[in-house]
Amino acid sequence: MAPSAIRCGTLFDGTGAAPVRDAVLVVDGGRVVAAGSAATTRIPAGAELIDLRDRFVMPGLVDAHSHISIVPGLGDQMGQLRQPPVPQALRATANLRRDLYAGTTTMRVMAEENFLDLDVREAIDAGVIPGPRLLCATRAMTASNGHGRAHASFDGVDEIRRGVRENFQRGADHVKIFATGGVASSGTTLRACVYTREEIRAAVEEAERVGKYAAAHAHGGPGLSMSVEEGVATIEHGALAADDDIALMKERGVWLVCTFAILLHPHGIEQGDGRNPAIMEKMRWARRVVDENFPRHLATGIRIALGTDSVHGQMAFEMETLVRLGVPAKDALLAATRWGAEACRVDAEIGTLTPGKCADLIAVDGDPLKDITAMRSIRLVMKNGVIQGRDEQ
Ligand SMILES: [Zn+2]
Repeated sequence: MAPSAIRCGTLFDGTGAAPVRDAVLVVDGGRVVAAGSAATTRIPAGAELIDLRDRFVMPGLVDAHSHISIVPGLGDQMGQLRQPPVPQALRATANLRRDLYAGTTTMRVMAEENFLDLDVREAIDAGVIPGPRLLCATRAMTASNGHGRAHASFDGVDEIRRGVRENFQRGADHVKIFATGGVASSGTTLRACVYTREEIRAAVEEAERVGKYAAAHAHGGPGLSMSVEEGVATIEHGALAADDDIALMKERGVWLVCTFAILLHPHGIEQGDGRNPAIMEKMRWARRVVDENFPRHLATGIRIALGTDSVHGQMAFEMETLVRLGVPAKDALLAATRWGAEACRVDAEIGTLTPGKCADLIAVDGDPLKDITAMRSIRLVMKNGVIQGRDEQ
């Protein structure tokens, strides 16, 4: 494929540098080879010219927490995970198309049954279906009576060691552990922790021994603090995190992966489980606490990334919520790109538009630094140097 030269109205490269007006980005072999001002960046002979002079160009979005097969609006998320693989794969196909065209070029999958995420990843990589690049957890580590349990469950240190090892043998990228209860299941409470310290530690050890890491679903209470103490790299949700928890996470360099849409967006839990009083009560409580505590937590400078948690195509909502809670727009853009890549440990490959990185980028209509709602208007998505959906969208 010939190199391409993309003329950008504004280039936000994700490094934290000031955006460049009238820029050129040169892509070759699926990678960025040059980026800078149009006045000084050389366009190679024979390059395909892509005119985005009326667009704001930035790195593709990193959705750091989602599930490919779940549609929250259908309700009973655990029930969806218990279905046979075919209906799950069909939902995943529609979900991932939506995610991709809304700007998500990388997604960290935070648990599926039947190793579904590995098969779907293969289908995307083979060009069978469109979708983001996937980082896969495969089966989550959850206790028999824990949140997030669909089929698989792992009790005791030995089962966890075996489960994690088997996940990695099959091709998982990281470990997901359910350290506390969650909103979208009845019968678990948000602060309760089923796993023991030893079980959490076993998951972390098994991951680290092979150069990977563990991520913990934790809203608050001892499950959250124990997970941080035992070395997980990311805390998912953290809706009820206390000031002490945030301070400890900051001290240990643990990422907080914020998932606002599932809790706050009308297409989140509310749409599917609006008639389940146990779930709705937890949801309303969590909403109040998030609105009250997150402006303070986010202002501490804790490292953050963003995840839609199955509210597919809604990274824009995640970013809008950050801004509403007091985060500068520039940091919201970084949380959705470079910081997400760092949290998912793929920042050597993606997250910024700098020479050597994969050419994953999006073109936005408007200036999201001035009005973050511009992120709803994605006009072009490129993954690995290929414009997505050019022939079929
Ligand atoms: Zn999740």
